[in-house]
Amino acid sequence: MRILVTGGAGFIGSALVRHLVLELGDEVLVVDKLTYAGDRRSIRDCEGKPGFAFLEADIADAEAMRGAFADFRPQAVMHLAAESHVDRSIAGAAPFVQTNVVGTFTLLEAARAHWSALPPAEKEAFRFLHVSTDEVYGSLGPNDPAFSETTPYDPRSPYSATKAASDHLARAWHETYGLPTIVTNCSNNYGPYHFPEKLIPLIILNALEGRPLPVYGDGGNVRDWLFVEDHARALALVVREARPGETYNIGGKAEKRNLEVVETICDRLDALRPDAAGPRRRLITFVTDRPGHDRRYAIDPVKIGRDLGWSPLETFESGIDRTLRWYLDNEWWWRPLREGRYDGQRLGLLPEAGRS
Ligand code: NAD
Repeated sequence: MRILVTGGAGFIGSALVRHLVLELGDEVLVVDKLTYAGDRRSIRDCEGKPGFAFLEADIADAEAMRGAFADFRPQAVMHLAAESHVDRSIAGAAPFVQTNVVGTFTLLEAARAHWSALPPAEKEAFRFLHVSTDEVYGSLGPNDPAFSETTPYDPRSPYSATKAASDHLARAWHETYGLPTIVTNCSNNYGPYHFPEKLIPLIILNALEGRPLPVYGDGGNVRDWLFVEDHARALALVVREARPGETYNIGGKAEKRNLEVVETICDRLDALRPDAAGPRRRLITFVTDRPGHDRRYAIDPVKIGRDLGWSPLETFESGIDRTLRWYLDNEWWWRPLREGRYDGQRLGLLPEAGRS
């Protein structure tokens, strides 16, 4: 397939691009603005592969999006570009509204213009996959059933509110204009190339360096965790197999309290690389909770299993082990990010900006 992937230099986007290019042999154009969260080193294994191209551009730039569709003529769009960090959305919501809402709108319009002009068979086969989060469904009590595709939206942070808005836009463009959109809502991802400000990589790297391991509140907030490569496989399947207008929830069936996640990382790291100063659980430090911190998310992934035959390959334990080993072996990737020395836009490795 010829697929335009937005946000392909980010955490999940790069896992998806590596899967599409290196394992499935798809032609891929990555469209990415290279914000602080975008890093071309995450897709360096794809550079130079037949059919791979990179365009540094903002999805909210209508002219650039028109040009990307006209030049690349994609058969599908997989839209992952977003501002994605809840804490940053609380500190300042403007970039979230701009990229997640205005950017998605701009991309949908560019896709619609491209799709409308396609010959009938190509028009029929075209897909626009909008990648979203389980956070749009709000917060669950300890005994509530997991989120399903029909759970009403109840976003509670600026991040999840802007993602919810963009989900509604994607569905409206299907209902109103017939654009063949599909929406996926996924639980928390973890794995290689995860920006070091997010919980799991932050804990791994702080634990490695003997620094405090910050845990919000009492550590009792529950998330469902999915290994990022399992998410990438799910997305590649959905874009090929799902019917337009569908929604799929994607989850790992791995509900964990934050404290359990941190303790698992401590124990596995102790086994892999013992710390002479003692067990790493000693570093756990409880910090003031985040405002509006959703208590529990849980995803019911039964529909994607039934309709498309997808299920995760990794358990939480096997995925954490793979993640830990990756961070131990790939200091070249995370060290500059962690020390704030690295700016994705000024990457020595790939000097030229724009398409290559
Ligand atoms: P990320 O922050 O790691 O990556 C986002 C990417 O988008 C970066 O490469 C960034 O440069 C790019 N980007 C940001 N603004 C842009 C713009 N205006 N134009 C073009 N590119 C832009 O995010 P992620 O964790 O990989 O998440 C990817 C998608 O999956 C997001 O839509 C997110 O809401 C969704 N999601 C994430 C998770 C998770 O656990 N991380 C879970 C479910 C859904």
